[in-house]
Amino acid sequence: MTNHIVVLGAGYAGLGAAKRAARRLRSTGAQVTLVNAADRFVERVRLHQFAAGQRLPDLPLAGLLGGTGVELVVAEVTGLDLQERTVQLSGPPYTLSYDVLVYALGSAADLDTVPGVREHACPIATAGDAVRLRARLRAQPAGPGPVTVVGGGLTGIETAAELAETHPGLRVELVCAGPVGPGLSVRGRRHIHRAFARLGVVVREHEPVAKVGPDGVLLETGDEVPARTVVWAAGFRVSPLAAASGLRTDEEDRMVVDRSLRSVSHPEVFGIGDAAAPPGERSLMSCQTGLPMGLCTGDAVADLVTGREPRRARFRHVWRNISLGRRDGVTQFTRADDSPLDVVLTGRASAAFKETIIRGTVWIMRRPGPWL
Ligand SMILES: Cc1cc2nc3c(=O)[nH]c(=O)nc-3n(C[C@H](O)[C@H](O)[C@H](O)COP(=O)(O)OP(=O)(O)OC[C@H]3O[C@@H](n4cnc5c(N)ncnc54)[C@H](O)[C@@H]3O)c2cc1C
Repeated sequence: MTNHIVVLGAGYAGLGAAKRAARRLRSTGAQVTLVNAADRFVERVRLHQFAAGQRLPDLPLAGLLGGTGVELVVAEVTGLDLQERTVQLSGPPYTLSYDVLVYALGSAADLDTVPGVREHACPIATAGDAVRLRARLRAQPAGPGPVTVVGGGLTGIETAAELAETHPGLRVELVCAGPVGPGLSVRGRRHIHRAFARLGVVVREHEPVAKVGPDGVLLETGDEVPARTVVWAAGFRVSPLAAASGLRTDEEDRMVVDRSLRSVSHPEVFGIGDAAAPPGERSLMSCQTGLPMGLCTGDAVADLVTGREPRRARFRHVWRNISLGRRDGVTQFTRADDSPLDVVLTGRASAAFKETIIRGTVWIMRRPGPWL
């Protein structure tokens, strides 16, 4: 019988999958092991708040896994051997054998597409990035030149608004290759522009960045935009581990999975969250889809282990929730395919709604119950 399930990555997707699988398999003797680089659960959706200087809740994984029977291994995953069905780790036990593997290593900032980003910009995609950006902003509280956030997607918008609200004396600029908030409705974008005007954030739309240097960014137009800190929020990329191990991946290194979220090349491996590319979906990088993918996979793993056909994953887009500081936001309601409806919730109501969702997610993660 299949008896060792190894889950890589304790983010929204991996933690949900591990807890759900463990609960479903409690009476079978199967063991679930969860591997993560750190011993804390990182609420990535709050990293802009941390970078801005706010305190975040401390969420040790040991506490979130209490009573579940999931074994936690804190180590970095350095390699996968799909023939031997083993995972290589940076620390003890160094090698883990699996019968079923769940790959949920998330994403990090794309530092290599635009020259100079790796050397000169501060990304905001991981906990380490947020710690470094926070320290840099603290060390340079005032000075010539603005803090320039590059990226008009949700991460860039949230970061620019948070920095401007938390540090009212700071000059914040947002530079993006397209419009601010692509994929949002006209109403949604209009509200973001109003909020930026209120917060004093200067916006440069349709200005692709060609290069980042020590003193700012060079635009494709040839214009130079001076900045004392460049925050890079212009795209995520996933770990090359899946591709390097021989798993079928797409052009962005995401694992190609079927409708049950199983690898199309290695069906004993599931791929979920930011690191996976399910059929018919464009980039899904959000916890709104990562968590349901994790829960569906917990069920599918339990099906597989107990000799049933793994069920198809079911999740759909409902909204995009964008914070604009702590007292404002935009909730963009969407169709199931993530295209925007002309319906938005804005202001304090949206901010309160988002805060409730984020807290609710951690509440679900904390307690064993009908979900986990
Ligand atoms: C600033 C910011 C704001 C965001 N806001 C929102 C939002 O409002 N709404 C929304 O839906 N999404 C938002 N997102 C996106 C969302 O956070 C991600 O899509 C989500 O975290 C993906 O979940 P995941 O489980 O796939 O990966 P993650 O949450 O990234 O978890 C992956 C885990 O794997 C671990 N890991 C990675 N590599 C290794 C390794 N080699 N060895 C061991 N462990 C490893 C990591 O440490 C991490 O714990 C935001 C992201 C950022 C950065």
